[in-house]
Amino acid sequence: MVEPYAAVDIIKAKRDKNVLTHDQIAWVVDAYTRGVVADEQMSALAMAILLNGMTDEEIVQWTNAMINSGERMDFSSLPRPTVDKHSTGGVGDKITLPLVPVVAACGGAVPQLSGRGLGHTGGTLDKMESIPGWRAQLSNEEMLAVLTDVGGVICAAGDGLAPADRKLYALRDVTGTVEAIPLIASSIMSKKIAEGVGGLVLDVKTGSGAFMSDPAMARKLAETMVRLGKDAGVNTRALITAMDVPLGMAVGNALEVAESVEVLAGGGPEDVIELTLILAREMLDLAGITDVDPAETLRDGRAMDAWRRMVAAQGGDPDAPLPGAREFTVVHAESDGIVTSMDAKAVGVAAWRLGAGRARKEDPVAPGAGITLRAKPGDVVHQGDALMTLYTDEAPRFALALEALEGAVSVGPVGSTIERLPLIIDRLT
Ligand code: URA
Repeated sequence: MVEPYAAVDIIKAKRDKNVLTHDQIAWVVDAYTRGVVADEQMSALAMAILLNGMTDEEIVQWTNAMINSGERMDFSSLPRPTVDKHSTGGVGDKITLPLVPVVAACGGAVPQLSGRGLGHTGGTLDKMESIPGWRAQLSNEEMLAVLTDVGGVICAAGDGLAPADRKLYALRDVTGTVEAIPLIASSIMSKKIAEGVGGLVLDVKTGSGAFMSDPAMARKLAETMVRLGKDAGVNTRALITAMDVPLGMAVGNALEVAESVEVLAGGGPEDVIELTLILAREMLDLAGITDVDPAETLRDGRAMDAWRRMVAAQGGDPDAPLPGAREFTVVHAESDGIVTSMDAKAVGVAAWRLGAGRARKEDPVAPGAGITLRAKPGDVVHQGDALMTLYTDEAPRFALALEALEGAVSVGPVGSTIERLPLIIDRLT
């Protein structure tokens, strides 16, 4: 095959701050997927994009090229409206677990294609895999069957969905080119658009524990993704939400499943319940389901029922005890007072060091490892009270985790100002 372009010319064009044409973008993404454009060439182009940016039109074309590298899913045979959510990820962000069954119990269909965690934020599949027997990999037919039967499915994205993104994301990860808004937005939205849903709610997190810690950058990312979704005919909204403090009281795979089950049973921490219901209302609104109160499904057991059926449909035993950790240690308050701040990133890094996360994508995770918080900003504590419990299978990891937690929790005199972002910072439609 005669190639219409040379990769080096496209790299030079972006290096020199020129706008790439539709055809150049379509070619370079396709040629990279085919192996004609080499990794080192795509690395250079990704760095030029990170440094010089892209116009809105270039981002649309880049996203289309990534979608066109693979299949588009089709859920048009489902009797329910399809709607999904994507979170940019954070510490203790287990919201997908209660959210999918809540929306399913209200009559929506949620095909949630999730990923595994890398770095200090956990991945939904890692959490679900702590349920004995549960299987992440489903064929498209199996996925459709669970969606039809339950109304919600959480599973791994198949190899056919935006393969260009899979290859490019792995490359960005090792070349310092993850943090480019055009590349992040096109990566996330290519997968969500190819998924073929009618509505999409984006939960873009900001604060120390988020991927976009700067609120201005989080807003820019949210705006870019909402525009991409709408251009592609997906009814898209975004919430910008707090990730300065961990969500809920549990951080780590099995610990977060247990907390999600508490929420589904009608209990659980306030912030997890609140964010689950806010996102559920947004999703139901996009799906045109306005006559059901999602909170009711947590009270009357319908969401729990959907969860149990969803877990069982993928081989999981919803009644099996979740894996624990072999060792634990408690961090105590050093003085009386009120907790004024708690750094989400430090808690995420500590949980990761305890074995809850992975350094390379091939690494296994320890399902029982993680942290249970005993106090959050705003809580009054006394000297010697437990602030958090750390769990791991390998005791030498405690020292590394405690090092990450140094200075992560501040306790001040009662009456001190609490440093905390509001849970919902902004809403973009
Ligand atoms: N998640 C994605 O899927 N892609 C990115 O680029 C960043 C986060």
